Amino acid sequence: MTQSDHKIPQPRCLAATAAPRLGTARLGSGLVPVALTLSACTQPTADMNNIYYQWDGRTVLCAANTDDVIGVDHANIAAGLDRAVANREAVQYFAHTPGATINRDDLEFTFAAAAERGLPFLTYRELLDDPTPRAALVFSFDDSAIDAWTATRDMFARYHAHVTFFVSRFDHFNAAARAQLQQLAADGHAIEAHSVQHLRAPRYVETYGLQAYLDDEALPSINQLREAGFDTQLFAYPFGAHTHELDDALLQHVRAVRSLSFVRTSQVTADPCRR
Ligand SMILES: [Zn+2]
Repeated sequence: MTQSDHKIPQPRCLAATAAPRLGTARLGSGLVPVALTLSACTQPTADMNNIYYQWDGRTVLCAANTDDVIGVDHANIAAGLDRAVANREAVQYFAHTPGATINRDDLEFTFAAAAERGLPFLTYRELLDDPTPRAALVFSFDDSAIDAWTATRDMFARYHAHVTFFVSRFDHFNAAARAQLQQLAADGHAIEAHSVQHLRAPRYVETYGLQAYLDDEALPSINQLREAGFDTQLFAYPFGAHTHELDDALLQHVRAVRSLSFVRTSQVTADPCRR
């Protein structure tokens, strides 16, 4: 096992009696029903304890994917935000490309719902800088969709939203793309690292070793951003895939690492977030 130390069932799938098609998967000691479609497996984000930062100083953080393919609907998002308000927690959602992986209207629903609840947006850096317990939304965008991110500046401004961009393949950014990223930083967003080639870290470590992953994938992505003038302080794992060994090594170089809640690994679900 490289991805996580333990596995847990997919809670919503197990309870998804309304799912149109159910199959079986081997989980633990026996076969259990597992919905065969992603949408039928969608778990309430309000039940994902590890996407709620409770101001406890943890350095391995977790976010829930809200891209359309995941099937997190508006009611699910709203309930997730309500939990943050009720418990004074910071809920962590992320997506990739506005207008592509997430419909702009769906993205705007989340932003508007946060605004309606008086939930402030925090970048990950702001979350680390001020540990005062409070309700907040920490929204991030992963990968390299610089044009789509730039095209969303109007929406960010409309909701006074400060978000975090976890950037991969920054070495492929041309001068115009770098200028766009600088513009987003100037708007108050945080620019953080997401590896060079977006490879699965535990697999790379198995093949080439931990030091090679740091030297080839992780540290260059952090250093390239810093050399370009960004105040990069976090690293997000591609696919959320990590190990405790990777966490310990990365945390020598960044203040926190971000993984994903409930990474799907074939037919079981791994909980990658630890305190
Ligand atoms: Zn990614």
